[in-house]
Amino acid sequence: MSYQYDVVVRPSSGLRLHLNENTAGCSPRVLEAIRSVTRHDAAFYPDYDRAIAACAARLRVEPDRLLLTNGLDEAILATTVAALRDRRVEQPEAIVVMPAFDMYASTSDGAGARVVEVAVGGDFVFSTANVEAALNQNTRLIFLTNPNNPTGQIIPLDEILTIARRAPQALIFVDEAYADFSDVTLVGDPRAAALPNVIVGRTFAKAYGIAGLRAGAIVADAGTIDRLRRIVPPFSVNACAAAAIVAGISDTEYYDWYLEQVRTSKALLYDALARLGIRYWPSAANFVLIHLGEHAQRTVDGLAARNVHVRDKSRDPACPGCVRVTAGVVEHTEACIRALEEVMCAAGS
Ligand SMILES: *Cc1c(COP(=O)(O)O)cnc(C)c1O
Repeated sequence: MSYQYDVVVRPSSGLRLHLNENTAGCSPRVLEAIRSVTRHDAAFYPDYDRAIAACAARLRVEPDRLLLTNGLDEAILATTVAALRDRRVEQPEAIVVMPAFDMYASTSDGAGARVVEVAVGGDFVFSTANVEAALNQNTRLIFLTNPNNPTGQIIPLDEILTIARRAPQALIFVDEAYADFSDVTLVGDPRAAALPNVIVGRTFAKAYGIAGLRAGAIVADAGTIDRLRRIVPPFSVNACAAAAIVAGISDTEYYDWYLEQVRTSKALLYDALARLGIRYWPSAANFVLIHLGEHAQRTVDGLAARNVHVRDKSRDPACPGCVRVTAGVVEHTEACIRALEEVMCAAGS
């Protein structure tokens, strides 16, 4: 079985609601910061003092519990390398709760782990028992996404902590790519801070809208951060991204505005989906998973023909018939809803 990540970045035009990006773009302050990067900033290896200070203040953690990464994807890679370092285990295992973000299986399989796929639970409600049933002495890595992509569902923090305590031999990677939208986080939670095997990953790609610049962060116990520091290259985050982190964090007004746009967009989507009789799962993130069953492909194609691009997840056995729609700027969501209504009407006539 191949776990290679299927890169879907196209199309470059139309309404991109397929990758959960910030549909408004980054804060204008980020662009100003990049424009003021000097010839010498470009020539010198970057200094991260300001970016680390800004990020630590934003997340309210001590800087020694924080490591900047080249996107959250690099945090996944570094954690995987750290987890698989123990040579006493002949066949290390990585638990992935399905449906899941594709990078977990791709990275851990690529690094030599056996990928153990665990079903999330009925109606996408997280089942701790399912994860516990898959645990054994070879378990070295457990990926938990909170809120989950593509379902938008929250894992109660207690459940994550229970799993972390049950599996001290493993690193628990808690992917909080969408925690800005859910406001549920293990960052700053004293119970998580006491567990050296809990690693929280964050990103500036989604709420801050700098996916193209690549910027993420890891928060963990200081000793665990030291383990990861030996793996993440020392200049992994480029000078423009480092400047963008500082500028993005400083513009709280823009950030709050975008979160409000996402909340309103989700409410509009829920109303429209209810009106159209389409099943959906209320989401804690900046996207909504909807169920179109056998009409998934036709609907995705119909939307694409109207220049609205959504993510077809219908062939994923863990969420059959489902499609994921990014909820960003309200105007974009309204355009998506109009296109969806057209596609549904065309089908009904
Ligand atoms: C988008 C996403 C990432 C990747 O974040 P980058 O910072 O762009 O690397 C990681 N995990 C999940 C669940 C995501 O949806």
